[in-house]
Amino acid sequence: MSSITLRSPAKLNLVLDVLAKRMDGFHELRTIFERIDLCDRITLTSRRDGAIKVVCGHPQVPKGPKNLAVKAAKQLQADFGIKQGVTIAIDKKIPVAAGLAGGSSNAAAVLMGLNRLWRLRLSQKQLVEYASRAGSDVAFFIYNASYALGEGRGEKIRVLPIRVKLWHVLVTAKFKMYTKEVFNHLNCPMSPLPNPCTVWCRGNDNSSQLTNKKDNVNILLPYLRKNMPQSIGSALANDLESAILSLRPDFKRLKNKLSNAGACGVCFSGSGPSVFALARSKQHAGQIKARFDRRYAQVFVVSTL
Ligand code: ATP
Repeated sequence: MSSITLRSPAKLNLVLDVLAKRMDGFHELRTIFERIDLCDRITLTSRRDGAIKVVCGHPQVPKGPKNLAVKAAKQLQADFGIKQGVTIAIDKKIPVAAGLAGGSSNAAAVLMGLNRLWRLRLSQKQLVEYASRAGSDVAFFIYNASYALGEGRGEKIRVLPIRVKLWHVLVTAKFKMYTKEVFNHLNCPMSPLPNPCTVWCRGNDNSSQLTNKKDNVNILLPYLRKNMPQSIGSALANDLESAILSLRPDFKRLKNKLSNAGACGVCFSGSGPSVFALARSKQHAGQIKARFDRRYAQVFVVSTL
């Protein structure tokens, strides 16, 4: 075997609770990941010269060591003394720097693909360890799961045995938002928290206020298990929303447009700028999409994978 092709899916965050800022600079999160059928395609081809190269036509995808897929491949190559190299061809369909974890998913696909191509025989647990080192969202994609609870930086994964298929309209505005910048606009206390359900939030008037945090994960989960779109829609939540809107106040209009188009609920994914609407069915998603203006954004109908 000298070549292998893999699908590399995107994710949405149905809930994203930010609990605290940690001493290492990362934030402590609780999130519900949903894997969706918007996918990049990755082809790995062995090389005799030992080099790790990226081929990708997308101008915003790094071709060198900053690419998370390269980082993951280099780690495996070094740890197992592999003499071969690999060409990583990425057919990019997932919008870049959009809160959809395209780079993380590519890294997971490369870990799983090289495990086969280089015959490393790594267990899922070992792959998860490599994934956690490569980036916060990588581990989720190692599990063959539609839904999972993510904790820590998002790398501590508990698969949720839920078989429900949701339909969404996903709108990605054509300007980028960088995760670090969005988190920098949050005002959280340093961990450990006096009470894990308490979090500092920045109020609209920019003052810091201590609020009692809702357990958004456990509010949403029963509705998800019972496949109740209207209730799921009202329970979608993202603590980064205020930071995203403080950077881009015009996104409020984007959210309102989707709500007014008849969605069950509307939410940002990750650190944005992707916004998704929850629909009742594929047909309903098609109707919302048809009403949506595509001039300044990419619009997709996606479902749970
Ligand atoms: P984050 O994981 O930071 O929340 P995201 O989901 O918003 O990211 P990505 O598409 O993963 O968005 O891109 C984030 C950044 O990672 C981009 O600015 C890009 O330069 C870099 N990056 C590294 N590797 C990749 C890759 N394989 N595909 C896309 N972007 C990548």
